[in-house]
Amino acid sequence: MNFNLEENVPLKNLTTFHLGGPARYFVVAENLEDLKSSVSWAKEKEVPVFVLGGGSNLVVSDIGFPGLVIQVKIAGLEILHEDEEQVLLKVGAGVRWDEVVDHAVACGWWGIENMSLIYGTLGGIIVQNAGAYGTEIASVVNHVEIYDREVGEAKEFFADDCHFGYRSSLFQNNERYLIIAAVLELKKNGTPNIKYPDVIKYFAEKNITVPSLSDIRTAIVSIRQNKLPDPEVLGSAGSFFKNLLLTPEEYQNLKEKITANFNAETVAQLEGIKNKFPVVGAIKIPTAWILDVCGLKGERVGAAVVYEKQPIILTNQDNAATADDIMNLVKKIRQTVFAKTGVKLEMEPELVGFGQKEIDGYFRL
Ligand SMILES: Cc1cc2nc3c(=O)[nH]c(=O)nc-3n(C[C@H](O)[C@H](O)[C@H](O)COP(=O)(O)OP(=O)(O)OC[C@H]3O[C@@H](n4cnc5c(N)ncnc54)[C@H](O)[C@@H]3O)c2cc1C
Repeated sequence: MNFNLEENVPLKNLTTFHLGGPARYFVVAENLEDLKSSVSWAKEKEVPVFVLGGGSNLVVSDIGFPGLVIQVKIAGLEILHEDEEQVLLKVGAGVRWDEVVDHAVACGWWGIENMSLIYGTLGGIIVQNAGAYGTEIASVVNHVEIYDREVGEAKEFFADDCHFGYRSSLFQNNERYLIIAAVLELKKNGTPNIKYPDVIKYFAEKNITVPSLSDIRTAIVSIRQNKLPDPEVLGSAGSFFKNLLLTPEEYQNLKEKITANFNAETVAQLEGIKNKFPVVGAIKIPTAWILDVCGLKGERVGAAVVYEKQPIILTNQDNAATADDIMNLVKKIRQTVFAKTGVKLEMEPELVGFGQKEIDGYFRL
């Protein structure tokens, strides 16, 4: 078979967390043919497959992945259609996401500027329905081109069939579909979506009342650079826990727990943040706030540390943490938060190469 198979390739060098063991087998796929041959090799050898994008949302176990890791590097940025109102832009699954945003903003196309400086590739962005500052990829997807492993052919899924939800999609934890490309619908005459407090504050300080598209990208990049660790300097997978999207009843339960276990000032803070982050159909409470009031900033297990500036991020200090350190820190955090607030935190990154028994142990409350 014509593809360049490698063995025992360290995955820590291919992930932003910079930890975990090797891929038993490893191959790079630059096009659909590479995907097909890799998948059929794995089928013939009866080994499991893991599809790797930019490695920015993963925790790889210390023993690594026992099967074939296919790193998707499918390139391409192509205009499929353009009129006065919009552009249909086809993006290869392996294209670095921030390159897509940079290109769109330079061309004057609206829709993804709030998602500036998110790490990873187009493929990973679609799978995780990544988003930031009130925008998620689902809002601009026209359709996704996939390779269906089960029937061995390429297909298209329109946005409605992708089952996008909060940081989730049909493609998540779903070995059947490999993303080849996606077609995005970007607007020529968009309007700024700047409802988040950090963004409002940035423009107020700069006295900008009607920001341009490139002002928005500059603002988001600047805010993120101040708040988030640069993976080249400090390993992380970005936000480690999902934010809380609560029903009114769930919010009431949280408020009761906060009232019982914290002081009146903390209860007032909770009431204050309740309406600060606009989400349709839910009350959004930032998990960073929960972690902060539970006193978890700077908490650590070995070299796995809760980031002081933004506690929703777990970091790998000096590249010395193991995946086991990270997951034991997760256990400590979840148990503390559950005891004090009744909230069961959910993880955002995906676990790779862990056994179910191990996972159950880390997630015991
Ligand atoms: C500092 C930092 C900040 C971040 N900020 C944000 C943020 O603001 N918002 C946000 O949503 N996320 C954020 N993230 C998380 C991450 O960047 C996103 O989840 C991103 O979408 C992951 O893309 P990736 O290519 O790195 O995917 P990977 O981590 O490589 O993989 C993630 C999942 O996608 C699957 N996958 C990847 N490519 C394909 C493909 N071609 N076909 C099928 N499956 C595929 C993998 O199998 C895996 O299940 C941040 C991460 C870091 C390190």
